[in-house]
Amino acid sequence: MSQAPVKLSVVGLKAYYLTERGPVQAVDSVNLSLLEGESLGVVGESACGKSSLGAALLRSMQRPGKIMSGSVILAGQDITLLMDSDFDRNIRWKKIAMVFQGAMNALDPVYSVESQLAEILQEHGYKGNFKDKIKESLKQVDLDPSVAARYPHELSGGMKQRVVIAMALLLEPDLLIADEPTTALDVLVQSEIIKLLQKLQKEKGVSVILISHDLGLVSQIAHKIGIMYAGQLVEVGSTDDIYRRPKHPYTQALIAAVPNLKSKDKKINFIAGSPPSLLAPGQGCRFYPRCPHAMEKCKQDPPEFKAESGYVRCWLYEKDDK
Ligand code: SF4
Repeated sequence: MSQAPVKLSVVGLKAYYLTERGPVQAVDSVNLSLLEGESLGVVGESACGKSSLGAALLRSMQRPGKIMSGSVILAGQDITLLMDSDFDRNIRWKKIAMVFQGAMNALDPVYSVESQLAEILQEHGYKGNFKDKIKESLKQVDLDPSVAARYPHELSGGMKQRVVIAMALLLEPDLLIADEPTTALDVLVQSEIIKLLQKLQKEKGVSVILISHDLGLVSQIAHKIGIMYAGQLVEVGSTDDIYRRPKHPYTQALIAAVPNLKSKDKKINFIAGSPPSLLAPGQGCRFYPRCPHAMEKCKQDPPEFKAESGYVRCWLYEKDDK
């Protein structure tokens, strides 16, 4: 079977927050690729840079965030090189859309669902019938079309999240980035939202980047998983490999920290220590102070993230040719 075409290729992406205290290296030297219709889970502790990565891909980092260098190639076009006006007109919502963290709570309480969806259509010069398109979008996320007439306060959390996903998919983007789309929802609704994303990805062939702190949740939908630590991707692999054969010591620690409800041993394995400040993450491996396998050279020499080491940013998997 032939492989699907590459939809997204990110090369050496650096995106920092230029604060008065110095640059916060929220996204540092990130490389990743995504095939058409493929889903990638990006997992890591809070403040590891995963939301900043999603926002950088959509060129929506909050100030003073800025893409410093690197490429984001979407269907063959480096979208970091586009003028803002070009990006807004042709890429945002149309090619890449994002469900931002907490977006369901940002729905405007004074406008109906229909008005809020119609505004997006209008802003992007949609030529078809607005009402039909809105009905179709709501059906696509398994909501009754009558929801269009309701206001946000008349919807449950799960319904609001479906509306937000419908908004993101309104202009049929090729890539959907969903940042913690199930946070603040109960477990049953979480599972429904994950199933919905899975359905949309299969039926619409949309590529999905799912950002979450919850490895178990991400593994339900993602074809592959990228583990992020202190602003860097430290390992990318198939979901099966990450779960069953984790290589990077941080990935191993994350897997060990997932509670196993079937096991009699109810002990939770915390990862001792805390991530470094992204203002001054240090010269060498950023996981060095917490790593049980740390070697002397890890302190000074940063391991790289490349094919030769199997996309694991760790000296244990890299030939020391320095
Ligand atoms: Fe641990 Fe060294 Fe690998 Fe970093 S490079 S994860 S410190 S073994």
